[in-house]
Amino acid sequence: MEQERESLEFDIIFVGAGPANLTAAIHLQRLIKRHNAHSANPLEPSITVIDKGRYAGAHLLSGALLDPRALEEVLPDYREQGCPIEATVSHETIWFLQSKRKFPIPFVPETFSNKNSLIVSLSRFGAWLAEKAEKEGIQLFDNTAASAPFIENGRLAGIITEEKGVDKNGHQKPGYEPGLLLKSKVTVIGEGSDGSLTRQLFRHFATGRSLQRYESGVKETWRIPEGRVIAGEVHHTFGFPFEADVYGGAWLYAFSPTLVSIGCISSLGPDSPVCDPHLNLQRFKLHPLMANILKSGTMVEAGARTITSGGVDAMPPLYGPGYLLTGESAGMVNMQRHKGIHLAMKSGIIAAETLFDALLHEDFSTERLKSCEEKFRTSWAYDELHAARNYRKAFDNGLYAGLIQAGLQLSFPGLSMKKTHINLPGFSSLPNPGLKKNKSADAVIPEFRADDIRTFSKERSLFNSGVMHEENQPCHLRIKPEDIAEICLKKCTIEFGNPCQHFCPAAVYDIITEPVPALKLNPSNCLHCKTCEVADPYGVIMWTVPEGGGGPGYKVS
Ligand code: SF4
Repeated sequence: MEQERESLEFDIIFVGAGPANLTAAIHLQRLIKRHNAHSANPLEPSITVIDKGRYAGAHLLSGALLDPRALEEVLPDYREQGCPIEATVSHETIWFLQSKRKFPIPFVPETFSNKNSLIVSLSRFGAWLAEKAEKEGIQLFDNTAASAPFIENGRLAGIITEEKGVDKNGHQKPGYEPGLLLKSKVTVIGEGSDGSLTRQLFRHFATGRSLQRYESGVKETWRIPEGRVIAGEVHHTFGFPFEADVYGGAWLYAFSPTLVSIGCISSLGPDSPVCDPHLNLQRFKLHPLMANILKSGTMVEAGARTITSGGVDAMPPLYGPGYLLTGESAGMVNMQRHKGIHLAMKSGIIAAETLFDALLHEDFSTERLKSCEEKFRTSWAYDELHAARNYRKAFDNGLYAGLIQAGLQLSFPGLSMKKTHINLPGFSSLPNPGLKKNKSADAVIPEFRADDIRTFSKERSLFNSGVMHEENQPCHLRIKPEDIAEICLKKCTIEFGNPCQHFCPAAVYDIITEPVPALKLNPSNCLHCKTCEVADPYGVIMWTVPEGGGGPGYKVS
């Protein structure tokens, strides 16, 4: 029986308060105000933004280098308005690393260059955008997660928020609140990489595109003694700690002479799940290039997040019945530049202009929303993504083959020597009968003991992530008991050695053998990074939203 729930109606709901949706909300509100200033028929739509983090920016994590192109379009006076820019890129080096040695690449090609990019903390930047949106009159509700789509007459007609006050056994606690039904004419989904609402939506509305692919990013922010770096210094590395047959890279960005962001991007997926992204970052810090910079420093924040990397070929349509997709929900990441914030913001601008047009004509049909696709395909964002469309695929055959192709792509943008189909279960949650293990299935995770000075265990890193959840609630990582018995404890143990114990950067998954073999979960540790869902080789893990407000609490990530 359908549960009785309170229902609220809006014209537009934005799900997710990241740079894409906040840009969209700000731009839309400004378009409306401009229209109303000289129109006899003013528009007064009800617009709201919801986010599952406990404050604006709490779940936002990235390197981050921001190409200011879209920011200049929507907020040209961003500097005067106090945009939290840590530094402007001043020096840039790309290094090839061996375990003890480093080799600088003699020049930084134009397509990789970060000249004029801004170094930002994405969580601080997101909090600033949220403040701008609220000043424009947008209602923002944090602590609110979208748990399910509300589909009516074949279109997305709103969302259902998570229920609050259910104990770990599924019983209602005092103060129980059922989820709200938030109805809308258009829902704009900008949940970031591998959003749980986006997944549910794609099960209802087939998108007909290649399945998405992902990488896993793990990041730390460090306070260091002065004299090691200058503000705006940027280092990108490839090689160590990755083997030559694995895609991966690392970075250091200097926010200031005493604050740096460091991180690693590790390739993993259902066919290559034997990987430990947290360990890769710990090993990276031991390389002399990093060790000398970090010596006597202190880690101030740690976190993790997946990154969509399928490029333009894996992008779903940006619209559907009753909805638009923005940011990483639409796959807006350029892997060649390791950047997506500017593309996410551009997708927000496009969404805002599409919504404004729909409001003006009081027409929220799929046909009307479809115009966003045309706007995207004639934008610089599409040109940029299209030119980089085969960059990530080039590394599917290993580092050296990838470097040759990436080099050729400098002269022939988009060149691909091999047609690669992305056909992994990553976005489907369906077991893939044709799953073919690649070399990483036999990879061995090296033994490693953290020194608690420069390198840290996963449990220790969690202290610096601000993660917290209501303990007494149902486990938000759903695995059917029969899948645990037959797949986790049998098939996966034999075929992959239970890689969930390694790839989760928060030590959520633990296979115990005593008193009987079992999968023990620690969901309160979860950083909402989604690595488990995208790397699970059998598609048996389903990530669902915990109570709103749970998850990491990033402040400078
Ligand atoms: Fe990330 Fe949470 Fe999954 Fe661990 S359990 S991989 S922290 S989403």
